[in-house]
Amino acid sequence: MHRSHTCGELRASHIGQTVTLSGWVQRSRDKGGLLWIDLRDRYGITQLFLEEGKSDAKVMEQARTLGREFVIKATGKVVERFSKNDQMATGDIEIFVEQLELLNASKTPPFTIEDESDGGDDLRMQWRYLDLRRNPLKNNLVLRHKIGIEARKYLDSLSFLEIETPYLIKSTPEGARDFVVPSRMNPGQFYALPQSPQTFKQILMVGGYDRYYQIVRCFRDEDLRADRQPEFTQIDCEMAFVEQEDILNTFEGLVKHLFKTVKGIDIPSVPRMTYDEAMRRFGSDKPDIRFGMEFQDLTTAMQGQGFAIFDQAEAVLGIVAAGCAHYTRKQVDELTEWVKRPQIGAKGLVCCMCNEDGTFKSSVDKFYSQDVWQKIAAQAGAKAGDLILILSGATDATRKQLSELRLLMGGRLGLRNPEEFKPLWVVDFPLVEWNEEAGRWFAMHHPFTAPKPDHFDLLETSPGDARANAYDFVLNGVEIGGGSIRIHDRKIQSRMFDLLGFSPEEAQHQFGFLLNAFEYGAPPHGGIAFGFDRLCALFGGADNIRDFIAFPKNNSGRDVMIDAPSTIDQKQMDELYIATQPINE
Ligand code: ASP
Repeated sequence: MHRSHTCGELRASHIGQTVTLSGWVQRSRDKGGLLWIDLRDRYGITQLFLEEGKSDAKVMEQARTLGREFVIKATGKVVERFSKNDQMATGDIEIFVEQLELLNASKTPPFTIEDESDGGDDLRMQWRYLDLRRNPLKNNLVLRHKIGIEARKYLDSLSFLEIETPYLIKSTPEGARDFVVPSRMNPGQFYALPQSPQTFKQILMVGGYDRYYQIVRCFRDEDLRADRQPEFTQIDCEMAFVEQEDILNTFEGLVKHLFKTVKGIDIPSVPRMTYDEAMRRFGSDKPDIRFGMEFQDLTTAMQGQGFAIFDQAEAVLGIVAAGCAHYTRKQVDELTEWVKRPQIGAKGLVCCMCNEDGTFKSSVDKFYSQDVWQKIAAQAGAKAGDLILILSGATDATRKQLSELRLLMGGRLGLRNPEEFKPLWVVDFPLVEWNEEAGRWFAMHHPFTAPKPDHFDLLETSPGDARANAYDFVLNGVEIGGGSIRIHDRKIQSRMFDLLGFSPEEAQHQFGFLLNAFEYGAPPHGGIAFGFDRLCALFGGADNIRDFIAFPKNNSGRDVMIDAPSTIDQKQMDELYIATQPINE
């Protein structure tokens, strides 16, 4: 027997029992004739104790040879601890060791296996199994497991069926770049790994499985960021015989269930905001509504006073940073530099201090009298002691820039507490958006999204104004879910492909299977997918999804532990009809 209990299990009520524990040596302390070993496993830490004279001399000697991360099995009696540790679940007891068995030795780990490790990211990724032994990662994976289980419980209770869809599918030109897999049996042909099971779940609806879900891996060959991985997991769902309202209610229910069961938090009903309103009030389709600092349209108020930059701008937009009138010249300069960075791209920033004495001070006072500022401040809702931050330019670009500045200021003012959760539905997304570079319309969500029924005609006249029954679930400024009501009519789907620049032949070649399915009784349907990794990170109060995935890739898309991707040998290449030699050999 390797263990009678885990290292997180023993309490005062076990005192007097003889137990066997197995685990890893977290640390040991040798003080004269007394020796303590902290033994760790997934469940916790238990203190082992030996004493010269009392313990068997051989066992004592053996215990002294144990290094960090050695794997051992210890048998002994549970005794009351002399100095109790109320920080530890097992802190009331220790084990007086009678027998020790070394199960495996360990090299000295390249970083400390502590909650705060001294290991850098690269090192921790390379020795991921050591990193996984640390509490923060373990807790994240436990959290992930819980969220997965609770999602399944909720969906199962509503008769959703978990159905797997294939990983080797067909490459499609829409969306992100595909990862492709050469087919040995079909020379010169490739599968693609799914960016999502979108078309399959729709086909399942045609197949009669009216409530589907899957916690499923998806693959997108995109540039990576903190919240992106080349393979990531979605809670992917689809329902038939539903309208948008049914989907919003069902999945609001899912998120509420998760908050309740995993975090013990009651989420009140989730507010809704149209895309247009979100853009107008926050300059973002995923506004962080934990704080206000809403956009103020100052275009009319600020134009016509002789300040050419504002006069020529399509939009002059401001936000009010409460209590920031004391900002120094240096702080304002720093903010100005920040908005001028290429990532933000603003040309400049106008700041106006609303001084406590009722006066106003800005860098453009030459053009704006105190009276005008008074009016602007009143319109913007700025009080004495506040700072008004103003950007100008083309509407879309200015909104984007000001949205970034709003998030920055919200963070600086401590308004973005990770323990506070403010979900939001953003609804009525545009159906398509114009891509200047490609010179054509692109689907804003995906090509299977249905226009609002009364917007069909706009496809012919002004597609950019057409709105879709498409929705995003946003939590604290992060998009964690998105979906839509789908097209289920072949003619409308063909019209959509046409709008997106597919010839009828191309549409048939790429999506013939779906178009054909629509001719055999496709029910009205719609769905949504939640980013499971992001959801886990948010529940865990973190930005980076990496530490919520057991084996993530680094920023260059590499798994540095197994060293992938890697070259393959010529024989494999030949079998796959890949002619060229690997570049780096
Ligand atoms: N397949 C979509 C996505 O991955 C979600 C959906 O429309 O259900 O974003």
